[in-house]
Amino acid sequence: MSMNFGTVHSALNLTAQGKRADVFGLTHSDNRYGFSSIQSPLCVIRGGDGPTALICAGNHGDEYEGQIIVRRLFDVLTQSDVAGRLILAPALNMPAVQSCSRISPLDGGNLNRSFPGAAYASPTQEIAGFVATQLLPKADLAIDLHSGGSGSNYVNAAYFCLSPDPARNKKTYELAQVMGLANTMVVPVSDTPGDFDSAAHNAGCAMISCELSGEGKVTLDALEAGWIGILRLLVHQGIIHAATAERLGVLPQPETTFLDLGENADYITAQSHSLVEPLVSIGNHVAKGEPVMRLRDLYSMDEVPKDLCSKREGKVAILRAGAIVAPGDHLCVICPELSKADLDTLISDAEA
Ligand SMILES: [Zn+2]
Repeated sequence: MSMNFGTVHSALNLTAQGKRADVFGLTHSDNRYGFSSIQSPLCVIRGGDGPTALICAGNHGDEYEGQIIVRRLFDVLTQSDVAGRLILAPALNMPAVQSCSRISPLDGGNLNRSFPGAAYASPTQEIAGFVATQLLPKADLAIDLHSGGSGSNYVNAAYFCLSPDPARNKKTYELAQVMGLANTMVVPVSDTPGDFDSAAHNAGCAMISCELSGEGKVTLDALEAGWIGILRLLVHQGIIHAATAERLGVLPQPETTFLDLGENADYITAQSHSLVEPLVSIGNHVAKGEPVMRLRDLYSMDEVPKDLCSKREGKVAILRAGAIVAPGDHLCVICPELSKADLDTLISDAEA
């Protein structure tokens, strides 16, 4: 029973028990690919009738920890490790992955803004449609792994995307706690059209995504934090067996710190063409009024350097990778740490 959406096709059998690696292929008739199928790995491990997790990476092509984690899952897990079903897509937007790029070089498409996709439209729209119609409806849990990409660095953090739906908030809160990354960024009710998260929720999946470091490289501690977090999620959700998690060295989850990435997050933004000197590191705790970035005029040595200060106390959750900036470029984001009471207020406001 093959899967098809527009020109996207996969012959992978997701139903039968066993461990299988295949691809999904996409047709795009430009100069390079006119006589090709643009292929991306798609794998399944089905061990039993338990729940299904769809785990994706390479949604953005310059984010690498997740791509390694998804491929490592296929390397180390056998059919007997899996109580349910794992569907693995480590390089979701392969044209972007091949070119180490956030977006697809074929059509400029950002896959994470392309859902629910469209058949026979652009390559990125077609991949989104394939995921939305052929993969997400088969999943109970969807996991989409991100990093900061070439342009930014993040603290290791799950996303808790607030929803008006109390049941969804309860589930995402649980998943973020179980994943146990050092931080969980709480974001307001989504106004980002076309992202993977909304497609997953539209398909009725529980959904968690995360950021694991960034700057267009692989960071070992982010890789291992993400790896253990994914295994914790899979055992907690009944997708892999407890003995497997034990064999792979999974520990109980540590506490996660909830960070406000909503209207109280402080975006430090350049207002001039400058060379930026960071005065803080990723994950630093800063006080209100503390200098966090020093900007020097690109053209004049006579200009006095200008310090930009934090408008509130919090943690440096996102840091820009490059140092030459233009007006409007964000340099860092300082997120207030949320107490349980603060978090409960945000949740109840979202549900009101
Ligand atoms: Zn991303």
